[in-house]
Amino acid sequence: MFSFIFSFLMLACIDAESLLNYKLSEGSKRKLEESKPNITSLTWEPLRIHYEFLDNTYDPASVKFLQTVLGITTTFFQKHLLIRRSSQKITYQSSYPKSIFGFTISNELKQKEYDADLVLFINVENSDSETYLAYCGPAVYDELTLRPIFALVSWNIYYSKLSEMTDSLFENNVETAVHEIIHGLGFVDDYFFRYYDSVTGESYNTSNSYTVSKVIYLSTPRVTNFVQYHFNCTTLKGMQMENNGGSGTQGSHFERTLYYNEIMTGSDMTGNFLITDFTFELFQDTGFYRIAEYSPDKALWGKNKGCDFANSQCQGGTFSEFCSVDQAKSCSFYKSGVSKCMSEQLSGPCKYQYIYSNYDCRDPDNFDYWKSSSLIQHFGSDSICISGSVSKSKTYSDYTCIQYKCDVSNKLSLVVDGKEFDCSETESIKLPENYYGSLKCPSNPEEFCQNVDECPNSCSSKGFCINTECICMQGYSSKDCSVECTKYRYKGSCLDKCPDSTYVNENIKYCIGCPANCLVCSNYNKCTSCKAGYVLRGGFCDNYKLIELLTVNLSASNSTSNNTNSTNTNSDTNSTNTNNNSTSNPTSNSTDTSTNSTDTTSNSTDTTSNSTDTNQALNSTDTNQTSNSTDSEDSNINIVTKEELIYLINSFLLALYV
Ligand SMILES: [Zn+2]
Repeated sequence: MFSFIFSFLMLACIDAESLLNYKLSEGSKRKLEESKPNITSLTWEPLRIHYEFLDNTYDPASVKFLQTVLGITTTFFQKHLLIRRSSQKITYQSSYPKSIFGFTISNELKQKEYDADLVLFINVENSDSETYLAYCGPAVYDELTLRPIFALVSWNIYYSKLSEMTDSLFENNVETAVHEIIHGLGFVDDYFFRYYDSVTGESYNTSNSYTVSKVIYLSTPRVTNFVQYHFNCTTLKGMQMENNGGSGTQGSHFERTLYYNEIMTGSDMTGNFLITDFTFELFQDTGFYRIAEYSPDKALWGKNKGCDFANSQCQGGTFSEFCSVDQAKSCSFYKSGVSKCMSEQLSGPCKYQYIYSNYDCRDPDNFDYWKSSSLIQHFGSDSICISGSVSKSKTYSDYTCIQYKCDVSNKLSLVVDGKEFDCSETESIKLPENYYGSLKCPSNPEEFCQNVDECPNSCSSKGFCINTECICMQGYSSKDCSVECTKYRYKGSCLDKCPDSTYVNENIKYCIGCPANCLVCSNYNKCTSCKAGYVLRGGFCDNYKLIELLTVNLSASNSTSNNTNSTNTNSDTNSTNTNNNSTSNPTSNSTDTSTNSTDTTSNSTDTTSNSTDTNQALNSTDTNQTSNSTDSEDSNINIVTKEELIYLINSFLLALYV
C-alpha cells in the first residue's frame, strides 16, 4: 500500500539528469514529432519478451525465484499480445541512455543482439529499508511503431519473502510482476498523448487524455467505449485515472473506487486481482498491441450502476460496492473473504469491505491461522465468505469461510464436514442437530456460480490464473500446471500437434485460436467475423458497437431475462449486504483492529485462540501489507520536492494506522 513512497525517497537522491534518462531517446522524440508512423503494412505477430539481469552477482536463490516469476509472466504476455515487428532483432544502440533509472547498462548487455521484441533489464536488490517491492517503466522505443523495446524492472527481493514462500504468496509476486510489466509495455501517463490508432496508423481524432480538477482521464476510443458500456453511462468521456497516492501512483493507474481489484489499480490489496477488458482495451488503444485469443476476467464492480456511480462513486448513491459504517464486519464484494469496512489511501472519501489479511477464504495458508478455532471453515479456491458460522461446540461467528460447489447448471451448494447443502433456492441452510450455528445462503447464488474465476491450486506456482484458466510457464501443462509437458499446450492438455482450429505460437509452445472477440478467423491474427457488439477493423474486432448491444439488452430486459438483467438483479440483492454491514457493526466495534475483532468472536468460547495469537496476527497483518504492496512507485519518475517528501512521509505514517 505504501511501497511507492520509499522508491521516491530513493530516487530523490539521484541527480536530476539521470532521472530523465528513462524518457524517450532524442531520436524517438524527433521521429514522433516529425511524422506519424507508417506501419499498416506490417503484420501482427506474437510478442517475444527476453529478460536479462543487469548484474551477474545477484544471490542465486533470488535469481532462480525471479526466473520462475518472469517465466510465468512473460508467457502470459507472449500468449496474449501481438505486435508489429519492424526488425527481427534489437540491440541497445549507442545513442540510447547510458543508464536507466540510475542503473548503468553494461557493455556486455549493450553488445548483445536480442532475438526479441521487448527486452526487460532486471535489477535485484535486497533491502528492508526501502519499502517498494518492484517498479518498472519503459526506457527505449522502436522508432517506427513507437512501441517500447527496452524496459527496466527493479525488484526488491526482501519483500518477496523467499524463506516463507507459499502458493498464494507466490501468486502475489506474479501479480506484481504482471502489473509492473504492463507499465513497461507503455502504460505510463506521460506517454498517453502518443497512443495512436493502429488500424490507420494515424492519431486518434480526439485528444487521448484530458484533465479535470487535477484528475487525469484517458479518452482513447476503445477504453472510453468500454467504460461507457461497463457502467452503462454514455456521457462518460474517458477512463478516470487514480488521483490519490502520490505522483508515482497518480495518473498511471486506474481509479481504485471505480476499478477496485483490477490489476492496474495503484496499490496492492488483500484478495486477488483481475485482468479485465479495461486492461485489454487499454493495450489495444496504445496502438502497439492487438489481442490474440483470450478469456478476460469479468469485472462486476460498478457494472451497470449508471452515471451516478461512475461520476461520484460512494457519493453518488447507495451502492453495494461501498459501505458506510467504519470497521463493520461483512463479506467482501466478491464474497472471497471476511472483511471490514474501511477507507485506504487510494479510496479517497469512500469506504469498502477490505479483506482481513488472515481471512481471505481463497488462501489455503489461512487454514493454519484458524485451525485451533472450533469453527468449521475451509480455505482454498473453493471457499466462499458466508454470513453465519457452524461448529460442533457453542462457538459462533458473524462471517466465516465455507467450502462451496457449483454444478454445471450453476446451482450453488455449501459443503460442511463433507456434507453438501443446497443453497440454490433457500435463504439459509438447515444444519443437522449435532451442529451449532446457522449459515445464510448468498442472495444471488446463480450469479455467484456464473462468475467464479478461481484456478485450482493457485496454478501450482507454475502459472498465472485468468478467468479460471492457468496459463502455464514453459514445460508445464494441465488445469493447474502441475504436469510436465515439453510438447504443445492447449486448454490444459499436452499435445504432439495443435488441434486443427488453432494456430501454433512456437515461441511459448501454445496453441492459440482466433483473435479476441472474433467468431471466425483464418489465422491467429486475421479475423473475418466478430462477436455481437464488435466491429471488424483491420482483421481484428473493436468494441465500437457495445453500446448498441447494451441499449438492445436493456430494452429487452424489461420483459425477458438476459445477461444485463441478471447483473441488475445482482445490484438489488447486493444492497442487502449493505444493510448487513450496519447490523454487524456492534460486534466489530468492540475492538480496534481487524484481527482483534475477528478473534474476539472465536475467543468468546474458544480458549485456544489467546492473546499471543492476536499479537502475532496483528504483526503479520502489518508485515503483509508492506510485503504485499504491489505497487511501487513505478515508472512515472519526477523530481520530488521537499514538500512532496514531507507529504509522502505523512502518508506513510497514515498508512501504518489504516
Ligand atoms: Zn503501478
